Amino acid sequence: MKEVKHKEKEVKDAKEAKELLQPEANIGMIGHVDSGKTSLVRAITGVWTDTHSEELKRGISIRIGYADVDIYKCPKCRTEHYSIDKTCPNCKGKSEYLRTVSFVDAPGHETLMMTMLSGAILMDGAILVIAANEECPQPQTIEHIAAITINGVKNLIIAQNKIDLVSKEEALKNYKQIKDFLAKTPYKDAPIIPTAANLRGNLSYLLEAIEEYIPTPKYELNKPMKMFCVRSFDINRPGTKVKDLRGGVLGGSILQGKLNVGDKVEILPGMDNKKFLTEVRGISTSKGKIKTTRAGGLLAIETALDPSIASNDKFRGQIIAAPGLLNDSVKSIEFEFNQLDRTLINEDYTLVINEQIVLVIGAMPVVGIIKNIKGKNISCVLNHAMVVEKGQKIAISKRKSLKWRLIGYGIVK
Ligand code: ZN
Repeated sequence: MKEVKHKEKEVKDAKEAKELLQPEANIGMIGHVDSGKTSLVRAITGVWTDTHSEELKRGISIRIGYADVDIYKCPKCRTEHYSIDKTCPNCKGKSEYLRTVSFVDAPGHETLMMTMLSGAILMDGAILVIAANEECPQPQTIEHIAAITINGVKNLIIAQNKIDLVSKEEALKNYKQIKDFLAKTPYKDAPIIPTAANLRGNLSYLLEAIEEYIPTPKYELNKPMKMFCVRSFDINRPGTKVKDLRGGVLGGSILQGKLNVGDKVEILPGMDNKKFLTEVRGISTSKGKIKTTRAGGLLAIETALDPSIASNDKFRGQIIAAPGLLNDSVKSIEFEFNQLDRTLINEDYTLVINEQIVLVIGAMPVVGIIKNIKGKNISCVLNHAMVVEKGQKIAISKRKSLKWRLIGYGIVK
């Protein structure tokens, strides 16, 4: 009860502060499985993003995790003055609210690369977490950097984490490895912040870097609505009476435009290769229910869909759009193939006719069979229908010794 009251007060305070009840931007947490990403999100936000029981058992994030945080800054202090609450950690004075951001915690395990790629489409900026006690780069470090590059993420911060576990010399050696690695990527000037998630060390500096280097994007709010779904749920408890059943819930982010409760939306590619319409019955963010929303951070919409078909992330990768905005889905595509920079991945990744590849289009992975190769142009038949837009960048993975490796990107023709 106390918690509910506290929550209500928070919502009221937020309204009074003219604060949006919606996070403004999505920050991807990327990096190798042992980098301490999830612990770092936990240290910043107080939320464990891998709360799925299977995830706790295996000690890794399987699904895309969410956590929102309010960022504050003390107007008086000059150092360590960024925090996640109203009280300055330095002088204990009153801090000013800056904004709310969502963290998108992408799985770092190599077998979950497709899930990571699905989440990358939502990232407005990213924090690459590197463990100071490991060689840099690890294979997933390279793949995650490639994934955000393909998705056009411009702003990156490096968290050199677990700094408490190494000596000063080791930390400097690791720092140099990070710098050498970044020099081969589009992020050579990315700031490097040493952190110790377990001790909550340097979090103020990390928040400061987020404010400085990952600004809220300028969303195109006047364009028709387009949203990517990265998770979906059945929120009903077992045994709920039919009349009390709530519709399927779709979680993700709106990339452009606005959305209101009562709007009709199209789901594509939909079910059995057919798009369909549904109605928005509710919109919620981590701060509560809202009637209207817009492009920005993570949110969930309750729909008129049968809740069972939305359970267990079955809608991951679907696009939710204003009716008529997108072309119908297709079962074959042609794209110009661009291999990842050879200085990052020094292996031959030639593609051949009839080879099976995985394409991640928007937030949805799909298996394709290569039917034709002419120079850089590749035609592919897809195993289910997908929505594609001309000029869209898609991530291409190839099977290499039983693992799917991100090898490059295609530009849809
Ligand atoms: Zn202060």
